[in-house]
Amino acid sequence: KQLTKEEIKQRVKDENVEFIRVTFTDVLGMIKNVEVPVSQLDKVLNNDLMFDGSSIEGFVRINESDMYLYPDLSTFLIFPWATDEHGGKVARLIADVYNKDRTPFAGDPRIALKNAVKKAEDEGFTAFNVGTEPEFFLFKMDENGKPTMELNDHGSYFDLAPMDMGEDVRRKIVLTLEKMGFEVEAAHHEVAEGQHEVDYKYADAIDAADKIQTFKLVVKTIARENGYYATFMPKPVAGINGSGMHVNMSLFTKDGNAFDGKDDDYMGLSTTAMNFLGGLLKHAPAITAIANPTVNSYKRLIPGFEAPVYIAWSASNRSPMVRVPASRGMATRLELRTVDPTTNPYTCLAAILVAGMDGIDNHLEPMASVDRNIYLMDENERKKAGIKNLPDTLLDALEELEQDPTIIDAIGSHITDKFIEAKRIEYSSYRQYVSKWELDNYFMQY
Ligand code: GLU
Ligand code: MG
Ligand code: MG
Repeated sequence: KQLTKEEIKQRVKDENVEFIRVTFTDVLGMIKNVEVPVSQLDKVLNNDLMFDGSSIEGFVRINESDMYLYPDLSTFLIFPWATDEHGGKVARLIADVYNKDRTPFAGDPRIALKNAVKKAEDEGFTAFNVGTEPEFFLFKMDENGKPTMELNDHGSYFDLAPMDMGEDVRRKIVLTLEKMGFEVEAAHHEVAEGQHEVDYKYADAIDAADKIQTFKLVVKTIARENGYYATFMPKPVAGINGSGMHVNMSLFTKDGNAFDGKDDDYMGLSTTAMNFLGGLLKHAPAITAIANPTVNSYKRLIPGFEAPVYIAWSASNRSPMVRVPASRGMATRLELRTVDPTTNPYTCLAAILVAGMDGIDNHLEPMASVDRNIYLMDENERKKAGIKNLPDTLLDALEELEQDPTIIDAIGSHITDKFIEAKRIEYSSYRQYVSKWELDNYFMQY
């Protein structure tokens, strides 16, 4: 709900808020914040809070480092946990980053998403609705509070306690999220031991991206308070499922869900939905760089662990990149299954939306749907069906991104350049490391 400045000031007073934390996200998807005492609230609300952008990844050069934070008043909330010994609280506001000359900053991912949403609005769409399914692992901590590699339980999909030791902490996570305005729809144990998922109600893209950032903070904070370490790393343990963050999406117009087709439409999907899907499939390789931005992301995208490996779509099968869940009407949607929780949610949703809009604008048709288990098809059968592989490594994905002007345009060249530069450094640092696998396989062999 949109609060006025006066309402925010009143709540700050009523609830004994002592600090205001103004947050934003850098190019790599990390939350940053400037925390000020409540005496500075007017400055914050009047878009006059300055910070030094030179220390932030992908931001500005040293000599032009002063930037402004423009808070989005609808994101105001009071953290339920951050009380000090006087009972003082901490409130947060999510902000857009502005340059010294008060123009929007090209390196702010949230502004990139706003620009993408604006393009869709210009074509008559009133909302890009997004529902995410973030998965994470809970690990035990040792007596010094350091995370260990020991998983919190041996439970599995939809297990009940006492197998599912995560139930208590998961319940606390859900209660905290609800206090913070999330409408939690489901929380359950995932397939792997120690793995969990919490699903909450869909929202329009900017709100959805904001919520992902808040969600991660809540999960990590509550897990730690309860003696567990939560990680959103895509593949913390080899040989068991990794953690994805499936993105369910639909476009709305003033008449309702534009993805919902008529009864005689193929699979009940509208032409808009089919074209959007065509765009998603076309730009999938470049989107992967953004949706799966770590070296570790590609250790999840392998056969046998419910994560996608191929560029394809299906209604029934979970092996392709895009699934069409069974619900129709208002809930008609596409589910992109590649995305993992290390993605920057703002640039990720911007890239997805612009890819889909490219499909709509250019009437792109998706390939035929694949209703068999793709893992069981051989290379020849896949070739015949027009099924391509997703990029194999972070490096391959970055090269795909460099060659896709539509996706570069979606996130802007400033963000693209900084992102690719940082990710190439990350990849080259990984290359310099000699892993246990290499020693196991080569040391005695050669
Ligand atoms: N954990 C799986 C993944 O890596 C997804 C399991 C599911 O279908 O929810 O994407
Ligand atoms: Mg899941
Ligand atoms: Mg799913």
